[in-house]
Amino acid sequence: MSKKSKQTPLTRQYNKIKKEYSNSILFFQVGDFYEVFYDDAKTVSDELDIALTSRKKGQPMAGVPLHSVQRYLRKLVEKGYRVAICNQVEEPQQGKKIVKREVVKVVTPGTYIGDEEETMLLTLFFDGDSFYYSYVDISIGDIYAGECTTKTKLLSVLEKLEIKEIVCPENDGIINKFLNKYYPDLFVSRYPDWDFDWEISKKRIKNYFNVVSLVPYGIDDNKSKIISVGILLKHIENTQKGKLHNICNIENEEKKEYLSIDAKTWRNLEIFKNIQNGTEKNTLYEVLNENITPMGRRTLRRWMRKPLMEKQKLQKRWKAVDYFVKNREKRETLMELLVDIPDFERAIGRISYTKGKPRDLLQIKEGLCNMQKFKDLLNDSNISILEQMSSNIKVLNELYELLDSGLKVDGASVLGKGNLIKDGFDDEVDRLRKLKNESKDVLLEIEKEEKEKTGIETLKVKYNKVFGYFIEVTKSNIDKVPDRYQRKQTLKNAERYFTDDLKEIEVKILSADEKIKNLENELFFEIKDEIISNNSDILQNAKIIGKLDNLINFANISLENGYVKPEIVDNKTINIEDGRHPVIETLDFEEPFIPNDLGMDPENKRSFFIITGPNMAGKSTYLRQNALILLMAQIGSFVPAKKMEFGIVDKIFSRVGASDNLAQGESTFMVEMLEASYILHNATDKSFIVLDEIGRGTSTFDGLSLAWAISEYIYKNIKAKTLFATHYHELTELEDLYEGIKNLNILIKEWDNDIIFLRKIEEGRSDKSYGVHVARLAGLPENVINRAKDILFNLEEESYTDGVPTLAYDDKVSEKRSNSLFDSGFKENIINRLKFMDLNSLTPVELMYEVEKIKEEIEKNDKET
Ligand code: ADP
Repeated sequence: MSKKSKQTPLTRQYNKIKKEYSNSILFFQVGDFYEVFYDDAKTVSDELDIALTSRKKGQPMAGVPLHSVQRYLRKLVEKGYRVAICNQVEEPQQGKKIVKREVVKVVTPGTYIGDEEETMLLTLFFDGDSFYYSYVDISIGDIYAGECTTKTKLLSVLEKLEIKEIVCPENDGIINKFLNKYYPDLFVSRYPDWDFDWEISKKRIKNYFNVVSLVPYGIDDNKSKIISVGILLKHIENTQKGKLHNICNIENEEKKEYLSIDAKTWRNLEIFKNIQNGTEKNTLYEVLNENITPMGRRTLRRWMRKPLMEKQKLQKRWKAVDYFVKNREKRETLMELLVDIPDFERAIGRISYTKGKPRDLLQIKEGLCNMQKFKDLLNDSNISILEQMSSNIKVLNELYELLDSGLKVDGASVLGKGNLIKDGFDDEVDRLRKLKNESKDVLLEIEKEEKEKTGIETLKVKYNKVFGYFIEVTKSNIDKVPDRYQRKQTLKNAERYFTDDLKEIEVKILSADEKIKNLENELFFEIKDEIISNNSDILQNAKIIGKLDNLINFANISLENGYVKPEIVDNKTINIEDGRHPVIETLDFEEPFIPNDLGMDPENKRSFFIITGPNMAGKSTYLRQNALILLMAQIGSFVPAKKMEFGIVDKIFSRVGASDNLAQGESTFMVEMLEASYILHNATDKSFIVLDEIGRGTSTFDGLSLAWAISEYIYKNIKAKTLFATHYHELTELEDLYEGIKNLNILIKEWDNDIIFLRKIEEGRSDKSYGVHVARLAGLPENVINRAKDILFNLEEESYTDGVPTLAYDDKVSEKRSNSLFDSGFKENIINRLKFMDLNSLTPVELMYEVEKIKEEIEKNDKET
């Protein structure tokens, strides 16, 4: 006999399905359980800590009850497994050997919808010379498609999204290398390379969205983006076994311009996660998030990921925040309405990708409940963005009425058991329920009659699932039982009987019950279909609620923390008066937070600030607070300051030098320089750069020279507004060379043999002797201190050569420079050499020689230009 014929039909069915889903753990429904066999059983038993049994010798199996499967799925998915759910898709029938089973869903980390705020699924591939990606949270539904020309840009996209799963081609070497290096632990689903086909993808997208053209989505002219969206949809269809109705929009990311923040800066500024332990604690998001609804929280995250660059849009958001700051009553009325709104955006998602539960439908009802009130309340605000929301809100009265009149609020929590539909909603359900109730009265009547007829006082009509309805008589009364009673079951102390009357009524009740359940299920699905046919309007409402919640949230936070509305100017100024660090000021420290100004104006030659001061004075805090304030302003929030005026910035860069970043284990000098190089290649004159101790990861001379050269390059070539905190005091000499470079330092005070940090920024160099000063406080012998002071003095004396700061002066370099047609530094160099020429110490001959040299250089330069 062949091996195959020995298999039971069930095993054969299992093997066939498992072969198709060999890369997944197969959950195989057998009645009320999902059974898992063979190696899958071992994995599941190990990972979920459930008992391993065996069907036959050597055939391990494990099982989880149907009703609690979610819990187990979640754990498996969190551990990085793919699970195929295979259900019985028909009712078991008498005489038929085996029920039909099908995989109804494949659950993966990016397609499992738990309680997290966001679950991002992303497709990624490399084509020509760019990375293409598209991503979606399938419980929400908007697809975003984009392109990155460099790895660094891609990293910054991924950093902000917290991706749970990546879909990519099997043999894309570049992507595989990228993932191995940066995301070795991320869950990856791979598709054959030929699936990444433009025409098939285009067709798939058109079918999915039921449209004839992709023009409205803005990706029509980009084959690679079409492929990335096509593959995303394919993966969704493969795992969800069909289409999700909530996915109904594609946004082309490049069509809109946002303030760009690269991955390092994002991490560095602790926007979503803190650096210590990766949680939300002490992050900007934590401070800014007092949203009431999940939609509001998601909106805030979206806005933070994509700060605006358009003046008008920003002003619109600020105006709305201002309105809520000033209109307490309106704000509070709206907040009271928001409190009652559940996550109906996600409920739509769940309804789209599962059968839907009564709770999901009820959430839609609660979500829609007050739409008219929102519409009215926002309509008279005179604020354009709010009025626009008001007119875009879809009241959906009919749908609400349907849900309200149809669904029981305290009914069953699952389908198939009846008790879903309200009385009065459907005539047939009402009729059957009445029949069932009346029959129950008839049962009571029968019990009463039988008691009278037989004289058995303790006789009872009862029901159980196995035997149905019966009359129960205790053993002591058996002799009174009439002949028409037919025995059904014998118990220790009683006998159970049925009669013809009882049988008749039993059939009536049970069939009514069955009919009611079926009918209720049908009605439930009709209501669900009605929701699905309104899904884009419901989703639109959810988006509006999210925005509204977040605008009110910004108003509340401004009031609580004393923020102000920023003003935009049409130049490159940044003026922040009494700015504060939004996170540190909320922490419970003993000392109060000391505000500080920032006044940058490239037109008035204030674009590059060098900040010195002892350790712990507050340099990093000052740097980051200004970067965070700018970011806050450009997401539409108010800011922690007394006043702010600024020209919109296009990019923010924040870098911490090696010494400060040691804990992260990435402090090699190479990394530091790579990052500096990234900034030098990407920053523009509209960018804002903060550099914290860059150049420390190498020897003093190397580091200082690089820091110097980087500063000059940013100042002269890029012209980005920059704050550079450094312990290289020599850098403060840049101020002597360049008009637009200014020194700042943090005030400290000596008191009672101690240093008091005043935390106040002021213009000027810091007193260089603080190192020596601190050493004295630390108890170093007085003659060591004095010797150190002498050396320091000598070093400082030597710092000018030919009247130019030693660091800047280089004969050869200046010669080379003067050869350059485009060298804007030539004049500055000559002026400085004259300015710093020490007439008292030079002999007349030396002086003549110097002047002659300068003259020659000027003539040479003139000839060439
Ligand atoms: P540095 O970069 O100069 O070493 P930090 O910016 O790390 O100093 O600041 C050291 C500590 O001083 C911070 O942890 C913060 O608690 C506190 N601090 C910094 N700036 C202020 C300020 N403006 N007001 C109050 N405390 C501050």
